[in-house]
Formats: sequence, C-alpha cells, structure tokens
Amino acid sequence: MHPKLPIEIDPFRLAKSGLILEGELEQKYMPRLSGSLQNNDGTVHVKMNFDVDKVLGTPFMNGEFTTTLPLLCERCSELFLYDVDIKCSLAMVNNERKIESLAEQYEPWVIDSENPVLLNSIVEDELILAIPLVPKHEHSCLPAEAWVSGDEVEEDVEKKVSPFAVLAALKTKD
Ligand SMILES: [Zn+2]
Repeated sequence: MHPKLPIEIDPFRLAKSGLILEGELEQKYMPRLSGSLQNNDGTVHVKMNFDVDKVLGTPFMNGEFTTTLPLLCERCSELFLYDVDIKCSLAMVNNERKIESLAEQYEPWVIDSENPVLLNSIVEDELILAIPLVPKHEHSCLPAEAWVSGDEVEEDVEKKVSPFAVLAALKTKD
C-alpha cells in the first residue's frame, strides 16, 4: 500500500533529475529519535522534492515530513501525542566552506561524498529538531486540586498586598 523509499540516496543526482520521493518510514528505524519517544510504533509520511534552484543553481530538497511523536509530558508525566508537520528546504553542499554562500531560505545540507547518504537519517535529524525543549500537553493537564491550591496562594498574596497599597496611595495624596 505504501510506496517504497530507497534506503540510500544520491541527493545531487536526484536534484539534477528533479525527482520526487514519497512514502512511509518507520520510527523504529530511527534509533537517535527513538530514545526520546515513549514507543516507536509510529510511521512518518515523507515527501521529498529534489530540484535545482533555477536562479542560483543550488541543488536543493524540499521536504515534508508528517508524523505523530509519542512524548512524555513534563508537567503531568503522562504520554502525549505530538503532531509534527515539518516543511524544510535543504540546500546541498559538498563542503562546509560553501555554507556561507547559500541563499537565506535554505538550511545547509552538507553531503560527504565518501559515505552513502541514508534517507531516514535526514528525516530523523529534522524530527529530532522538531521535539519541543519542554514537551507538555497544550491543555492544563495537572489534576484539578493542583490548580485550586495554586489559585489560593495567588489570592492570599493579593489580600496581603492591597492594604499597604491603599495606605501608600493615601500617603502620597497628603
Ligand atoms: Zn500533561
């Protein structure tokens, strides 16, 4: 059902040919990412559009990587599912010294021609970058009592502060 993606790619050649690769990758084959996940059963939908910039002549890849990452919420310590929809524009360079000459809209993709380029490790890098520094639910996920006590503390502070504030206001009037 899912189209197959190649394991190794030659990005420069793909760009020259203007090819599109699309398919599914499994999170369990991304060991560096898996360490941050609560399970590794998920799949990533991958679409890579390879081409050469008509104006600048830079070979590039526009990637779209969509998946759901099972993360641990740092507030309530429960699992939460984090949807990611990454869109990236990577310009290929065969030498780090060429990074400076790239146009601003591209992130550099340094390709070492000595080693094969693994398609899933490019996707894995982008997914690792997409993980929030402090992963947590978007809603208030702590139990109700935690919020109630938090509110009381705030109210107490206000009650203590306000009489002085009134006094201070009276004094400045005199
Ligand atoms: Zn939570």
